[in-house]
Amino acid sequence: MSDLTTKTALVTGASRGIGRAIARQLAAKGALIAVHYGSNAAAARETVALIEKCGGCAFSVHAELGVPGDVERLFSGLEQGLRDHIGDLRLDILVNNAATTARTGVRPEEVTPAEFGHMFAVNAEAPFFIVQRALGLLSDGGRIINISSGLTRSADPAQIPYAMSKGALEQLSLHFARHLAPRGITVNSVIPGLTDNGGPAFGTPEVVERLAQISAFKRVGEAVDVADVVVFLATDEARWITGSFLDATGGALLG
Ligand code: NAP
Repeated sequence: MSDLTTKTALVTGASRGIGRAIARQLAAKGALIAVHYGSNAAAARETVALIEKCGGCAFSVHAELGVPGDVERLFSGLEQGLRDHIGDLRLDILVNNAATTARTGVRPEEVTPAEFGHMFAVNAEAPFFIVQRALGLLSDGGRIINISSGLTRSADPAQIPYAMSKGALEQLSLHFARHLAPRGITVNSVIPGLTDNGGPAFGTPEVVERLAQISAFKRVGEAVDVADVVVFLATDEARWITGSFLDATGGALLG
C-alpha cells in the first residue's frame, strides 16, 4: 500500500479503543495525526506518546461533541495544531470515529428523548457539521471515513437509537460522496463488529468467549483489525471506492 507521508489526518475519539488504533496505524504510514478526545486528556496524551515512540508525529485536540460550540472548538484546536506542525491549514484524511454508546441493554420502552437526542447529537449531527466545517481544509483527493456499526444490518432491540444514529451516519457517507466526487474526495463508512476496545467487558474471559461466537472467525475483533481497513481506505489504492461501506465485522453478518 502507498504510504501517507506528507498527509494530515484528524481522527475523532482517538484517545482510546478503535480510534487510538486508527490513529496509530495512520501514523505508522507517515501521516501527521490530530488525536481528538472528548474527556480523557491523559488517554489522548498516551495515544500521542505511543505514536511518537514509533517515530510518528501527532498532537491532541480537545472538544466534547454533542454540546453547543463543539465543532468550532474542535477546529480551533485542529487548526492551531496544523499551524504549529506544518505551517498550513491542510487536512487530507478525516475519520469520524467518536461515538457514544450510552446505556446498553435498555428496552426501547425505556429510552428517553434526552438520551435519544444526545445519541444523535454525538453520533450523527456532530459528524455532519465536522464534515461541513472540514470542507475548506480538505485537500482535493482527500478522504472521509465514517465509523458506523454492524448494528445497521443486524437487529438488536436494546440498541435502537444507537443503530439509528449509525444509519444516519452511513447516509452522510452516501450523499457527501456524490457531493465531493468532483474534488476526488472519497467518503465511505467502515462497519466494525464486536471489537475489543479495552473496555471492562473485554477483560472477562467468559464474556469474550460468548462474544467471539458472533464472528465467523470465532474471535472478538481487535481494534487494529478495523484500523487496517480504515488505513486502506485512506490510501491511493482505494481511490475508486466512494459512497460505500466496508464490512469489518469479521463475518459477523454472514448468518
Ligand atoms: P470507545 O472505546 O468507547 O471510545 C470512544 C471514543 O470516542 C473515545 O476516544 C471518547 O473520548 C470519544 N467520545 C465519546 N463520546 C464523545 C463525546 N461526546 N465527545 C467527544 N468525544 C467522545 O469506542 P470504540 O469501541 O473504540 O468505538 C469506536 C467507534 O467504533 C465508534 O464509532 C463505535 O460506535 C464504533 N463501533 C465500535 C464497536 C465495538 O465493538 N467496539 C462495534 C461497532 C462499532 P474520551 O474517552 O476522551 O471521552
